[in-house]
Amino acid sequence: MLATTDEAPFATPYERDCARVYGLVARGLAHSRAELSKALELRSTTTSRVVADLAARRLILEVPGETAGRGRPAAVLIANPRRIGASVIYVASQSLSGALVDLNGHILEERTIALAPEADNAALAAAMAELGGFLVAAMPRGMSHAGTAVSLSGLIDIRGRQWLMASRWPKMRALDIQAILEPVAGPIEICRNLDAELRARAAREPKSFAGGALLLHWGWGIGLAYAVDGEPFSPAGGSFGEIGHWRFSVLEGRRCGCGNTACLETGAALWSLLPLLRRHWRSLGEDEAKLSEQFSNCDLLSLPEIDQAARILARALANACRLFFPNRIIVSGPFVANARLWAHFDALFRTEGTLEGLAMPQLASERADPNFEIHGAAAPLLRRAAEELLRAA
Ligand SMILES: [Zn+2]
Repeated sequence: MLATTDEAPFATPYERDCARVYGLVARGLAHSRAELSKALELRSTTTSRVVADLAARRLILEVPGETAGRGRPAAVLIANPRRIGASVIYVASQSLSGALVDLNGHILEERTIALAPEADNAALAAAMAELGGFLVAAMPRGMSHAGTAVSLSGLIDIRGRQWLMASRWPKMRALDIQAILEPVAGPIEICRNLDAELRARAAREPKSFAGGALLLHWGWGIGLAYAVDGEPFSPAGGSFGEIGHWRFSVLEGRRCGCGNTACLETGAALWSLLPLLRRHWRSLGEDEAKLSEQFSNCDLLSLPEIDQAARILARALANACRLFFPNRIIVSGPFVANARLWAHFDALFRTEGTLEGLAMPQLASERADPNFEIHGAAAPLLRRAAEELLRAA
């Protein structure tokens, strides 16, 4: 269940009861009025009133249960996953993709539009509007639309809801996402793709993400997200964790798409290494998911350039740890799918060490999975929409 509402501020005790009842049913921890009354120490009349109210708002459904012996089968309470849906638009390789998700995170509808590297603001705006309109139109009957979350790489202005720059589409500048999507599929939220991914990974395993956690993406670009107890750090403007544009003297003279030279990405990102890699393995594509499979069968470490990339990145990550002191670090992207390269990177990171007296953070590699990004981007919209319905007593 993507919308957990327990922490939300509710004005009246009755609204709080509604939220607690909905929370237990949605997590499958209570299936009847009797179980709810017991778990929440509510009077049975209160429980019945809350359940009737939530059923009238179609947040929960009463379905016939199994018969135990003779008599009428007791009804079972379940949360209605299709009561609310949210659209997510995200970048997948050289395309924009859209997905409509329900409260359980199931993807009900998907569409992808490929966009050439020459695509400009008008082309990206047209694709975004098409995806937004398509997903709203695809909603099943009885579903309310919570809005559209746009999950982006590159530079974004969260408050102004603008996409400032993306290395995949160098002709695009300051795309006004609010103006494009609000009339078609609002309300609109924009977020950094790495923040969305980290939020969803932490929601799945809250215990292991307690305290500070870092997500390092080593792929087409290189970027970092940071979360405390699963909630990503969201700076006022939107720019954060651009570790790929930290500058290193060993990379002096190499030009980067950001307008500078000597950035980490010029020696370690997929965009800078791919021409060299393709001289050795001709069939390599650009799609990160496909590359993860291909890289697992390539002897990447036979190339001194890959060794150098791993060394600089391990040092950059170790330095970032001296800034954030995370308990846990996740590294995702196609390079870490190569077992030998991952073991090498892990050893390099350990050699970098930490400050005396402090434990090394846990380091783990994760396979890229777009579902995390979709769930993490949709969750805030779904939560807000669920809270509004719970308040509408
Ligand atoms: Zn740069």
